[in-house]
Amino acid sequence: MSVRIKTPNLDDIFEKWKQKAARTDRKKMEKQFGTKGAVFSLDAISAAEYVKDTMKEAAIYFAVKKSLGPAPKGKEENLVMAPRVGREQYYSFKGATKIDKEKWKGDEKVPHFESIQAVPCKNCRGKGYTEEKCKTCKGTGKIEETFTILVGEEENKEKKPFSYPCGDCYGTGNRPEPCKECGGHKNMYKYEILPVPFKTVVTGVPILHSSAQTKYEKEIGDDLHKMIEDVEGIKFTNFKELESKLEPSLGYMNKNISKTVGAARSDHKSYERDKDAQITSQIYLFPMIQMFCTTKRGSKFEIYSLGSGNKFITYSNF
Ligand SMILES: [Zn+2]
Ligand SMILES: [Zn+2]
Repeated sequence: MSVRIKTPNLDDIFEKWKQKAARTDRKKMEKQFGTKGAVFSLDAISAAEYVKDTMKEAAIYFAVKKSLGPAPKGKEENLVMAPRVGREQYYSFKGATKIDKEKWKGDEKVPHFESIQAVPCKNCRGKGYTEEKCKTCKGTGKIEETFTILVGEEENKEKKPFSYPCGDCYGTGNRPEPCKECGGHKNMYKYEILPVPFKTVVTGVPILHSSAQTKYEKEIGDDLHKMIEDVEGIKFTNFKELESKLEPSLGYMNKNISKTVGAARSDHKSYERDKDAQITSQIYLFPMIQMFCTTKRGSKFEIYSLGSGNKFITYSNF
């Protein structure tokens, strides 16, 4: 069995709006509805005279808790030569409590001091130098000279080779040169740019879908979040139940309402799947009345009501 929800009476909606409008901007009310030379009275402003058309619509509401906080994921890595490691500004969160995102002034991802790691240079295999052929002895390890010798009584000139170990390579023929890759520092240094460990903040998010296509969806959602008990709707535990009881509950139906239910259902489903979200309320169905009005002066405006005849709230762009 479905419970039929009683929609508010048009006169009651109009009256509630009128009182609210007179409280917030009486001058505008006088300007738009007053008669020159006559004493202004709210009583003379009636729904019968100024409401030109009405539409019966519906709104669906549910509340969600969402975890906000460690938004950035993944990491970046940098590999640099030893003298460049210190050029970076490092951060450390070791042993610190989680960071309040609201108060954090820096980037969401920063270089972490604890992530610095030495990586043996691949070019020199961690030795810091590479063996190059000695330039002085051209890799022979020897310095070759030719002496001119004077032989015997005749002192005939004769050429004789003479060699001695190269002093630059100690006779090895090779000379260590600082590695071009690591600059002789044996290691390269790796560090990671990681997300700041923000505190996870759970916030309530109102979800509202209305078939009236108003610009007040955000406002209505926020209001419902604060005062759900002040507005009467019908609660459902799931969309299957809501869909089967939708028309008997409202007592009316239209294409926009079924579209709205479809959109709300898929939204609800995606929150069910979202690991960072939790649906914290039942699904509420509210009758919504949209009234198209014209003032005495001829200005057009709209009034919306949300809720049942017992408990409803109004919105207007007057
Ligand atoms: Zn040499
Ligand atoms: Zn190297």
